[in-house]
Amino acid sequence: MERGIFVIMKLNKALLFAVVGLIIAGGAVALVLFARSDKIKNVQAVISSAPQIQMRPTAQDFAPLPRATSTSMDLPILMYHHIGYVPTGTVDSIRIGLTVSPQEFAQQVSWLKSQGYTSISLNDLYLYTQKRFTMPKKPVIFTFDDGYDDAFTNGTPILRQYGYTGLFGIITHFPGTTSGTNTYADWGQIAAAKRQGMEIICHTENHFDGSNPKYDTAYIYQNLSSCQQALQNHLGAAEPYLMYPYGHYNADYLAQAKNLSFVMGMTVHDTAWVNLNDLMELPRVRVSPGEPLDKFIERLTE
Ligand SMILES: [Zn+2]
Repeated sequence: MERGIFVIMKLNKALLFAVVGLIIAGGAVALVLFARSDKIKNVQAVISSAPQIQMRPTAQDFAPLPRATSTSMDLPILMYHHIGYVPTGTVDSIRIGLTVSPQEFAQQVSWLKSQGYTSISLNDLYLYTQKRFTMPKKPVIFTFDDGYDDAFTNGTPILRQYGYTGLFGIITHFPGTTSGTNTYADWGQIAAAKRQGMEIICHTENHFDGSNPKYDTAYIYQNLSSCQQALQNHLGAAEPYLMYPYGHYNADYLAQAKNLSFVMGMTVHDTAWVNLNDLMELPRVRVSPGEPLDKFIERLTE
């Protein structure tokens, strides 16, 4: 009998552990879901690209890639679009979310300088993976998507003031055009920036969505190839680096990029932790307008 009671007590104890375990696991899942939903809202409020495309990257596009500690390094690749002001009366939330003011940008650049950060180019990063470049102690890469006029007129002087350089992704059909509240830098401005040491790379011909199945292999190949040709024609060189519109790509897209000799590609996966074994999927740290400096600082090591 005593033995029976002991067994029942043992069973009750096991049951109690199981119930407590389930409650803890459930709580953890709820916490993760809550954190994710918050991140998703954040992401959707801010992201972007050229205005003619009304689509935004999804939370999945921003999800950090898995960390591979042995081949990874802390390297914030900062992602900006407009450096300027939203025209009065603008209600387009995408346009607003893409526009960091020159004051905010200068504050961030100045802080990075005060902390001893050195800007490197994407080419430096590539050479580093080939053991042909000595990485500074605290590297940072500034990137600007879409080739907006204000990123050149407001952004490059601030970078130069602090001895920094940046990288610009150009949609090669757009230079010199205006669409809505977006004006794209012309080839003269782009060439001048390149002469000042800025890096200019392909962001496709027309900002097509690289993961949309309606674009077949031939289309992808042709588009990326023409983008490189345009850079070659206007600037005398085309770097083997690619910036994916919306951060979208799929296996076919990556295969065509590799066929065209691209060796590095920039996504919007949101982390400052770069896996050097995965250069075609480089993550970036998205900088949003109105972000307090301490939040910006926090994200440099996320
Ligand atoms: Zn873009």
